[in-house]
Amino acid sequence: LISKLPTVSTNIFSVMSQLATTHNALNLSQGFPNFETSPTLIRLVSEAMQNGYNQYAPMAGLLPLREIISKKTASLYQRNYNPEEEITITSGATQAIFTIIAAFIRQNDEVILLKPAYDCYEPTIELFGGKPVPVQLNGPDFSVNWDEVASKITKKTKMLIINTPHNPTGTTLQKKDMLRLEQILKDTNILLLSDEVYEHIVFDNKSHQSAALFPHLAERSFITASFGKTFHTTGWKMGYCLAPKELMKEFRKVHQFNVFCSNHPMQHALTTYLKTPENYTSLPEFFQKKRDLFLSLLKDSKFTFTPASGTYFQLLNYRNITDESDVTFAKKLTIEHKIASIPVSVFNMNQQDDKLLRFCFAKTDDALQKAAEILCNI
Ligand code: PMP
Ligand code: GLN
Repeated sequence: LISKLPTVSTNIFSVMSQLATTHNALNLSQGFPNFETSPTLIRLVSEAMQNGYNQYAPMAGLLPLREIISKKTASLYQRNYNPEEEITITSGATQAIFTIIAAFIRQNDEVILLKPAYDCYEPTIELFGGKPVPVQLNGPDFSVNWDEVASKITKKTKMLIINTPHNPTGTTLQKKDMLRLEQILKDTNILLLSDEVYEHIVFDNKSHQSAALFPHLAERSFITASFGKTFHTTGWKMGYCLAPKELMKEFRKVHQFNVFCSNHPMQHALTTYLKTPENYTSLPEFFQKKRDLFLSLLKDSKFTFTPASGTYFQLLNYRNITDESDVTFAKKLTIEHKIASIPVSVFNMNQQDDKLLRFCFAKTDDALQKAAEILCNI
C-alpha cells in the first residue's frame, strides 16, 4: 500500500484526549467545553426534529439561516454577503477548509501558512498535491513578519492561510496586519483562506479583524466559521463559509459531492438562536473571565505566560521547570500529575520545541481551579 499521507498519524487531539481518559486526568487538551450548551438551543433542535425536519437540507444550507448569517456579517463587518450565492452552511469549519482546498489546490500549487498552524491545513493541501510553504511565528508574541510572507510568494503561490484569533497561540491579528496583508495580496491572484472560527472570542476590548472588513482581502477570501466554537457544541460539527460568488460557485461544486448538505434540524435551531445577538456577543466577557481566573490562579506557579488575546487556549511556558521536550512533558503531566494539555511543537512543521503547552480554558471554574492547583504544585 502506498499511503497518500505517509507522515500523518492519529492527530494529537485524539491522542491526548485518549491518554487523559486512560489515566483519569483532567482534560485541558482538546479544545471543547466541559459544560453544556444552552438548554434553549437543545430545545430548538428537539422541536425541529419533532416538526419533521429530518430529511436532507438544501445543498447550500437553509436559506433563512444564510439570511441571518448575512445580517450578522453585515452588522459586525460592514460587508454584504448574498445569502443565495455567497454563504454555504457546512459540517463544521473542518469540512469547509477541506472543501476550499479540494476545490482550488492542484498538483504543485504552493500554499503559504503561518506556523504553528492548526493541524488540518497541511495534510489537506498535500492530499491534493499542493506544497505547504511555512512562515514561522516566534514567541512570546508570535507576530507575523509580513516581509517574510511577501518573500515566499512565487508564481506557484495559489493560496495563503491565516487564522485569527489563532490556535494554538491565542494571538490575534491587528488592523495593521490586515492592511499589510491587503497590500501584499492586492495585485495578485492569490486566494486567502481566513479561518475565523474564534471570531467571537476576543479579549481586552480588542475587536476581531475579519478579512470581511478589508475590500481587497474580502474579494479573494473564504472565511470559515464554526457554530461548535461559538455555541459550545463542538460535537454537532456545524459551521459555515463566506466567499464572493465566483469563488463560492466552485466551492459548491465540491461541497455537493463531499457531504451534499449539513444537518437539517440543527440548521432550523441555529436560525432561531442567531436571532438573539447576545448569544454570541456575550462570549468575550464569558471567556475572558475564565482566562483571567485561570491566569490569576497560576501567578505563583513556575509556568510563565503572555495572556491569550483570543480563542479559549492559553499557552504556558515550562522552561523554568524542566528541559524535557513538550511531548514528553505533556505525557508526563497527564500520566503522573493527571492533567492533559497539547504540546505546541506538533503544530510546527519542523517540530520546533519552545517548551510550550496549550491549555484549553473552556472549562467550569471548578475544573480551572483544580487544574491550577495541580499546575502550582509542579
Ligand atoms: N480551525 C481552527 C483554528 C480550529 O481550532 C478548529 C477546531 N474547532 C477548526 C478549524 C475546526 O472547527 P470545527 O470543529 O467547526 O470543524
Ligand atoms: N479545534 C480543537 C482543538 O484545537 C480540536 C478539534 C479536533 O479534535 N479535531 O483542540
